[in-house]
Amino acid sequence: LAASVTESDRRTQNADQEEPHYLGIDIGGTKVSAGIVNAHGEILSTAKGPMNTEGSAREGLLAVRNILDKVASRNGKRPLAGIGVSSPGQVDPFSGVVRNAVNLPCWVDYPLRNEMEQLCQVPVWIDNDANAAGLAEALWGAAAGYDSVFYASIGTGIGTAIVQNRAIYHGPTGAAGEGGHMSIDYRGDVNCNCGKPGCIESMAAGPGIARRARVKVASNVKKGRALLNVAQGDVSAITSECVGRGWKLGDPLSTAVLMETADVLAVWMGNIIDLFEPQVIVVGGGLGELMSNFFEEIRLQLPKYTLNKNSGSIPMKLARYGPDSGIAGGAALCLHSTSAAGANTAAKRKKQAV
Ligand SMILES: [Zn+2]
Repeated sequence: LAASVTESDRRTQNADQEEPHYLGIDIGGTKVSAGIVNAHGEILSTAKGPMNTEGSAREGLLAVRNILDKVASRNGKRPLAGIGVSSPGQVDPFSGVVRNAVNLPCWVDYPLRNEMEQLCQVPVWIDNDANAAGLAEALWGAAAGYDSVFYASIGTGIGTAIVQNRAIYHGPTGAAGEGGHMSIDYRGDVNCNCGKPGCIESMAAGPGIARRARVKVASNVKKGRALLNVAQGDVSAITSECVGRGWKLGDPLSTAVLMETADVLAVWMGNIIDLFEPQVIVVGGGLGELMSNFFEEIRLQLPKYTLNKNSGSIPMKLARYGPDSGIAGGAALCLHSTSAAGANTAAKRKKQAV
């Protein structure tokens, strides 16, 4: 990999007007993607390969290193100003330790940042995937120019980030911003993966959308026929993607399922607006584009669920970064990795390095 880059090198580089490049890594349960990103958030090149989660922690690390080498070799002789890691699950952004991620069994309380810095000799930053993606949107994406940003990634789960003045709000231990696990129906009969009842994630993420659609189809075969056809006649094969396709075909049942999704999202976002009053709400993730067709539905309902008189005029935008949000997010961490608490940690690290 590229030679070690110190803070003073970075400054010199800037003085030379040579634009720094950053390496963003998106680590998932089955694959690793990495990309070179410039200071404007443009992804210049990418590489991906398999992740090894079944072996030792070191083997997991080496799987990541393989992909890094692949993409870094395309950066020529230009040194990398930093590596940023977007990780699923619980991550301590201050210590750089991966606490616990269901789909990364190889790393439990694993000091990923320290191990990577030793291996790559480049400063490394790490955060959870939603925080990283939210920061990228705030720096370069749909939320560029806004001071207070609420980001939600809707896919197989719902990850969220609070970004204030271009810094992630972490809370004292790095656990803040888990908006996907706000319960909006604590008496409901659906338990979230996290164990709590009624989390918005359990209702409005992909599996929740699919579950509600299956129940509707099973209870009314006639009305469910169109969606059933999309799923090739198999109720259990109905996914949120099927519902999206059904909606595009004009199927009323699929439309009803997505309208319900918009309803629960409006209740949830109303809570968030009353608490935090973001200037903009950005929605990304695998279902972001589909749900962006319902932004107007959500916005029209917001006044019903908020005290805030301006709730209906807060813009809702589709994220700029789709499948590359982890790469852009990782790179963004290198530029603005820190809230106040993290900045102290960064200063400490620099001192230690000296
Ligand atoms: Zn939950």
